[in-house]
Amino acid sequence: MSLQYESNMTKYANVVSKLWKNWRSSSTNQLVNEALKAVKSCTTFMPPIDYRAYSKANFGDFGVHYPGLWRIEINRYHAQFDNITLEYFIEWALTPYHESRHAEQTYRIAQGVLSNEIKFPTKDLANKIQLAMKGRSPKEIRQAYETGNPFEVIDSGSRQAIVKSWLNIPTKVIVHADTHRSYFKNFISSTPPLWMDKRSGTLKNAVIDWMKISYDRYLGEIDRKAQGFVGEKTKTRGFARMYMSLPEEKDAYGIEKQIKLKILNNLGKSFPADENVTPP
Ligand SMILES: [Zn+2]
Repeated sequence: MSLQYESNMTKYANVVSKLWKNWRSSSTNQLVNEALKAVKSCTTFMPPIDYRAYSKANFGDFGVHYPGLWRIEINRYHAQFDNITLEYFIEWALTPYHESRHAEQTYRIAQGVLSNEIKFPTKDLANKIQLAMKGRSPKEIRQAYETGNPFEVIDSGSRQAIVKSWLNIPTKVIVHADTHRSYFKNFISSTPPLWMDKRSGTLKNAVIDWMKISYDRYLGEIDRKAQGFVGEKTKTRGFARMYMSLPEEKDAYGIEKQIKLKILNNLGKSFPADENVTPP
């Protein structure tokens, strides 16, 4: 199972479409709980994610992902407005799915490395790649890392420790990925998603491109800088555009867009014409 599978995307789109229809007659709690329950049911192939809600009076703030805590939170603030626009509603409702996809990316990297299907660069090598590859394409970064040192494997115990320190995720997630490492092959041999970056070429390469996340988080500042604009209405501008061009974001927005099309289709709406309609 994967978040990119049609069955999961359709299931989630159907729940979200129902949320729109019931928006005015539902309490804030009901709306939040329904959305979180639905996303939870799509992520059962991973260690259970700790889904929560918080409230912050900020229209640009839809949700947060804490990989280190394996936790995803949604901002319930938006769910209290009866006259939310369809554009805002979809952005809000798709946030937990988008953030869960980031969790899946991390999970796949761990699974790929632990199954020896993909190599994980040593800190030294990653550092060099990071410096040499600033601004280069995913393909060039991948080539550089593939010609470097292989992942240093001694035994499965220390392999888990290295992956943990790199990806900064809880032990239970590493252990789960290791136990299910043979599923990585199923994942990379499944149909590549429509939105997959053409430069990746294969799903396995897409996972390697997502792995660049760990270089950025561990060694650089690209991700932190780019995060500054996320969630704001202006997210197609400036830093945000840079952010969306990161392989992991291209993928997460790709999956989001696919579900959005299903929702619009369910509701008989289209964008931009219906962006500002309010719930029935
Ligand atoms: Zn994202």
